[in-house]
Amino acid sequence: MTAAGKIPEKIRKEIEQLVRDLNYHCYRYYVLDAPVISDAEYDREYRRLRDLEEKYDYVLPESPTLRVGAPPLEKFEKVTHTEAMLSLDNAFSYDEVREFDKRVKRLLGSDADMEYTVEPKYDGLAIELTYRDGLLYRASTRGDGYVGEDVTRNVRTIRAVPLKIEGPGRVPLEIDIRGEVYMDLDEFEKLNRQRETKGEPLFANPRNAAAGSVRQLDPAATASRKLFLACYGIGTISGLKLKSQAELISWLSEARFPTPARMKIAKGIDAVIDVVKEIEESRDGFTFETDGAVIKVNDFTVQQKLGVKTREPRWAIAYKFQAHQGTTKIREIRGSVGRTGVITPYAVFEPVRIGGVTVSRSTLHNWDEIERKDIRVGDTVVVERAGDVIPHVIGVVREKRTGRETFFPVPEKCPACGSRVIREEGEVAVRCVSLHCPAQVQEKIIHFASRGGMDIEGLGEKNVELLYSRGLIKHFEDIYRLKKEDLIGLPRFAEKSARNLIGAVVRSKHTTLAKFLFAIGILHVGEYAAKLLAKNFRSLQDLYHISAEKITNIKQMGEKIASSVAAFFNDDKNLQTLEAVMKLGLDIKNPDFAHGPDEALPLQGLTFVITGTLPKPRKEAEETIEKNGGHPSSALSAKTDFLIVGEEPGSKLQKARTLGVRTISYQEFLKLIEERSGHPRLF
Ligand SMILES: [Zn+2]
Repeated sequence: MTAAGKIPEKIRKEIEQLVRDLNYHCYRYYVLDAPVISDAEYDREYRRLRDLEEKYDYVLPESPTLRVGAPPLEKFEKVTHTEAMLSLDNAFSYDEVREFDKRVKRLLGSDADMEYTVEPKYDGLAIELTYRDGLLYRASTRGDGYVGEDVTRNVRTIRAVPLKIEGPGRVPLEIDIRGEVYMDLDEFEKLNRQRETKGEPLFANPRNAAAGSVRQLDPAATASRKLFLACYGIGTISGLKLKSQAELISWLSEARFPTPARMKIAKGIDAVIDVVKEIEESRDGFTFETDGAVIKVNDFTVQQKLGVKTREPRWAIAYKFQAHQGTTKIREIRGSVGRTGVITPYAVFEPVRIGGVTVSRSTLHNWDEIERKDIRVGDTVVVERAGDVIPHVIGVVREKRTGRETFFPVPEKCPACGSRVIREEGEVAVRCVSLHCPAQVQEKIIHFASRGGMDIEGLGEKNVELLYSRGLIKHFEDIYRLKKEDLIGLPRFAEKSARNLIGAVVRSKHTTLAKFLFAIGILHVGEYAAKLLAKNFRSLQDLYHISAEKITNIKQMGEKIASSVAAFFNDDKNLQTLEAVMKLGLDIKNPDFAHGPDEALPLQGLTFVITGTLPKPRKEAEETIEKNGGHPSSALSAKTDFLIVGEEPGSKLQKARTLGVRTISYQEFLKLIEERSGHPRLF
């Protein structure tokens, strides 16, 4: 954008024209669903633009090339909405819709027929798009209505989201546009089919799929999902005056924003109900999931007069459609293994059409549910599709039982790998804890390489997926068999990046027992529990064939962790794997054991600053902090955990209040040590 002065006028104009054209075609394709050029033509223009931008270093902020390519995030930043994004009150019958109308009229003190707008309720993820001077400045999720997450990079990849507002008329200085990101039913079913073949957990409904897609740390992952948008509201607006919901919708659509299908204005509540019925009757024909209709008072001035009741606007209501139901027969019950090893039962039905979608299976949630509902193979069951496209079984039609129905027992072996499963006391989940379970392998490799584990830089989710799909790593031990030559030529890998990854792999071989125990992903063993184990066992081999009892002997170790650790180290296949990994040159030190088998010190990880005069000499107080594992410091910052306040405190007290650092007296400090000496047990 900077070098505009140096490029030939003709090129500058061409770039600007290409951006305008491509954005227009994007709008034709993704908003109007009426493209005027072929995909090949679009791609050609897009490549031409990208080449020119690169060559002349001139990129407009609304260039379509900026939609993709942003690097992954560590985490999402929080965004406080200028105006709260409220949720809507629900109506479950037409009577309740009439009640709503009566309430509105009563509040306004009027008998006249109200003017409402009616639109289908999109079942997706509510977001806010903030535009400043016409350019997309930020996109955020609704969150709790007040504070959401910054998902700008991800939302930019949604082609239906305009990067720039071109009009009509004056472009508002700032405007918050609200809408719903959603996934089409077709796309949703396709995505779930793909996930199924990959052994990944399915999305329960398009809403979850849309939300999961937007809330990806890597924008490339969002870009790979086909998402749409419907805009239906505003928050803050300046530099543009809009009088009603209908006017807003027509402004939005002229400004090339996608708006709800079939938005209608209706005067009087009977007319409103007619439109609601119309939407309900045609909803099976929609390309998207809708579970209701939204009714809003049209006039913005009247909306303002009505105001808000706690967290819901008084001027709008969502009418919820009846859930779709059908009956069918269960052919089979099977178990599917999720990435974390949990085995979930599901029913396979004789295919049945329910609400426009063919249903042939449904999750049965867990094994207790099967027992509770007494569901058997061969049973005729009532199946419901509410907001969930993946349906659920409401119950069994007992009158249809023939006596030939069969019980389906809780499996003893993992359906994916055949290992014995475990079921913990008081838990409904049945799990496979095998290191070799194909259903869990990718997740385990990612965890193994993560920062808290073996800390292999460059081996994140994306590369693990890549190497796994190419058959280069089938299990985490294969990481140590990777060669540079295997990597070169793969997408994203050149000589240098391949060398870097291999270097990181080699470096990771020198590790600690605590990190290794965390890395191998034993159920319930987080970083803290791994460290406790390392403090109590000199080496990895000391854990082989360990009994649960021996682990519960460790202070702070509860039975849940103990039985999971014991199950892990009593599985011969797991031990063979560990031996194989060790043979690949791992060098595991255990500095934690040197400290002896003591439990963590009470002030471990806490930083203290002192101000004022304490009952004891300051030096002594600092020693007490250190002796108990804490860190005394003289510099107060937001990272300080406690400020110990003595007599005549200095300016630090005020600063601590500003920073939100907790302040305690010396007596409270001593009490803190006492309280924390008896650490709560883990599980
Ligand atoms: Zn398994």
